[in-house]
Amino acid sequence: MSNILVTGGAGYIGSVTARELARAGYRVVVIDNLSKGHREALPEGVTFVEGDIGDVSLIKKLVWSYDVDRVIHFAAYSLVGESFEKPELYFENNLIKGVRLIGACVESGVRHFVLSSTAAVYGDPLEIPIPESHPLTPKNPYGFSKLGLEDVLRSYSQTHGLNVAFLRYFNAAGAASGGMIGEDHAPETHLIPIIFQTALKKREKVYVFGGDYDTPDGTAIRDYIHVQDLARAHILVLEAMENGLPHEAYNLGVGRGYSVLEVLTEAQEACGLTIPYEIVGRRVGDPPVLVADNRRFTREFDWQPEYGNLRDILVSAWQWHRVHPDGYGNGESHGAI
Ligand code: UDP
Repeated sequence: MSNILVTGGAGYIGSVTARELARAGYRVVVIDNLSKGHREALPEGVTFVEGDIGDVSLIKKLVWSYDVDRVIHFAAYSLVGESFEKPELYFENNLIKGVRLIGACVESGVRHFVLSSTAAVYGDPLEIPIPESHPLTPKNPYGFSKLGLEDVLRSYSQTHGLNVAFLRYFNAAGAASGGMIGEDHAPETHLIPIIFQTALKKREKVYVFGGDYDTPDGTAIRDYIHVQDLARAHILVLEAMENGLPHEAYNLGVGRGYSVLEVLTEAQEACGLTIPYEIVGRRVGDPPVLVADNRRFTREFDWQPEYGNLRDILVSAWQWHRVHPDGYGNGESHGAI
């Protein structure tokens, strides 16, 4: 079985995927600088190296010493709002360090590279659901930083025969390992954790950003996909890459959207508590609707989400928040993807 380097493997999606990979028999090496990830989220049975993805000599050393032939690159800043305030942080960390990482991997013999990408590469959708062929017109520095890495990988694919896959996530949600691994960002900006923190009375109310969108109830619609389903998708991609993939980009979403108010209603059902909210102004950079056309992935990989409905995703998220009202509890970490 192959040896795989997982960057950002102490983050939310990265840690769940690293765990699945280890279970599937891969020898997993995680690199994470713990600026956003959590040591507590690291799964059993993986080798952990605390370090930076932009450290070219460290990356080369890891690839050589662990005989790595494939990489999944999760490590990134991933908040749209923050990317407007501090674009340089996103270009430096996601793009510049990402380019260094990719170069170091190619030079040291990595053959397969999977990028955590995002629906943010599409910008404001011209059609719903959004197919992979949609124009790539990001609307925020975060989306640009990820699209930049897609381009760099496309180039290495042409010039060096690197096998690449860009997995464009919609909204990752839910918890894994029976509620033991979940979302913990500081400051928290994501809807579902904020909803459950409010249910737990750690916040007074949920501020719903925008009630005047052109959607049935006026609030923004997103496609929520369970983190475990995302993790499973990565394994399928890695397995298939061995023989070459027919496409580079794949949307990973359930293919069904829910409005913020629908999420709130379902969340109240999931936890059995009343969650106060107030509708306020729109959040800058938020598209009204993001729903994946996931048919490319479902057909090619014979994949269906196990968590196909929002209620199950929310029950799973609640399991985590109820037992971990303060997240991992070290108080210093924030959102890693
Ligand atoms: N949202 C909201 N209130 C919050 C946080 C988020 O109304 O406190 C909305 C947000 O505007 C978006 C949706 O919930 O329409 C999902 O936002 P989240 O930050 O979870 O994910 P994103 O879509 O930004 O990746």
